[in-house]
Amino acid sequence: MEYQGNLAGNSLQEEILVLGGGVAGCAASIALARKGRSVTLIERELTPRHKVCGEFLSGEALEDLHALGIDVASLGAVPIDNVRLAARRRAAEAPLPFPAASLTRKALDTALIATAIAAGVRVERGRSVQTLNRTASGAWQATLDDGATYQAATAFLATGKHDLRGHHRPSDPQRWVAFKMYFRLAPKQAAELARASELMLYPGGYGGIQPVEGGIANLCCVVQQKYLSRAGLRWENFLAKMQQDCPHLAMRLAGAQPLLAKPIAITHIPYGYIRRTSENGLYCIGDQAAVIPSFTGDGISIALHTARCAVAAFLAAEPAPLFQAKLRSALLSQMRLAELAADGLNNSLARAVLPFCLRVWPGVMRVTAKLTRVAQQATVAADAVTG
Ligand SMILES: Cc1cc2nc3c(=O)[nH]c(=O)nc-3n(C[C@H](O)[C@H](O)[C@H](O)COP(=O)(O)OP(=O)(O)OC[C@H]3O[C@@H](n4cnc5c(N)ncnc54)[C@H](O)[C@@H]3O)c2cc1C
Repeated sequence: MEYQGNLAGNSLQEEILVLGGGVAGCAASIALARKGRSVTLIERELTPRHKVCGEFLSGEALEDLHALGIDVASLGAVPIDNVRLAARRRAAEAPLPFPAASLTRKALDTALIATAIAAGVRVERGRSVQTLNRTASGAWQATLDDGATYQAATAFLATGKHDLRGHHRPSDPQRWVAFKMYFRLAPKQAAELARASELMLYPGGYGGIQPVEGGIANLCCVVQQKYLSRAGLRWENFLAKMQQDCPHLAMRLAGAQPLLAKPIAITHIPYGYIRRTSENGLYCIGDQAAVIPSFTGDGISIALHTARCAVAAFLAAEPAPLFQAKLRSALLSQMRLAELAADGLNNSLARAVLPFCLRVWPGVMRVTAKLTRVAQQATVAADAVTG
């Protein structure tokens, strides 16, 4: 859509600015535009790219996406029915207590941006926000890489893992490194993986492998940097070490063809972070609001949920600092439980009692899945406002 904003001084004057066009930014933009608000979304990538993500969509994420008008089945999403916990040579399986699916982020983000454009959002792509500051009049001013500035009374900060200068989240003391790689599995292994998401444990981290659309599999894993250092900070060595520590993964990858020239990697993941407060007119959503440990909760669902709650708060004229504090208390117990689960997975004692863990896995899985879901009450409240 062509830009039609006003010029105030040298700045483009907007009603609402959304910074970051991933899951949370697109979801908020779509909801606001559908309520008749004038929204400008700034996304630094020209077209969606692969992102480090396990690409697992929980039942709640599926519901939220459906409400936004995104039918993941038509995009080729693979239904996921079971979760397996694999360690060394053994794997225990539990049926998922909710519908789930997997879809590449490239496909999901493409659909989200297209839905935002269709909803009337002005999408500025291939332009990166460098700074976000308050002007003397109290408006938010975003300065882009080409020097252009945009001002709005309200901004939604949705830059995901990337912090803007002056809006930093705390450091990540564990120094996590995450990788994603696609593989075409050997036919027997692809058939055995089928519609399951497999979680694997190894010293210093954990990872998951699951099918995504196009008959391929996503291997996504996290590891603390000190363990990666022992593998010479090299992906090939780390991949070999993971397979050595977890022969189940070695079996899955036997004869597999890697599909990317090198894995996609990210560092600085402040797991467990929940933003305490914000400033007036600045609603922080997605990973900028909360970062749930990977594989123990569903970050995409939280991104969609925080976007929906922030839009509801904005439409109800709830100040951003109040919204952020309420969101924090609504997410706190879910986040702490997910952290406990992640610590358990990453704990050497837990690995020592692995045979027991594998026996109790189906029960643990059912309880954890229930408890780490986004708080239903907050969802209902947001529904009431956003309709
Ligand atoms: C290893 C790992 C595995 C995970 N696996 C899963 C999983 O299987 N299932 C799940 O539900 N969640 C998973 N997550 C979490 C999930 O990926 C995130 O929680 C979710 O993507 C957060 O959405 P978001 O909108 O906040 O950020 P994103 O979706 O990352 O979007 C942020 C957007 O902002 C843009 N941007 C950044 N900086 C700027 C800037 N300066 N200017 C303009 N645009 C900018 C980026 O290009 C990006 O498009 C995983 C996370 C990790 C680290």
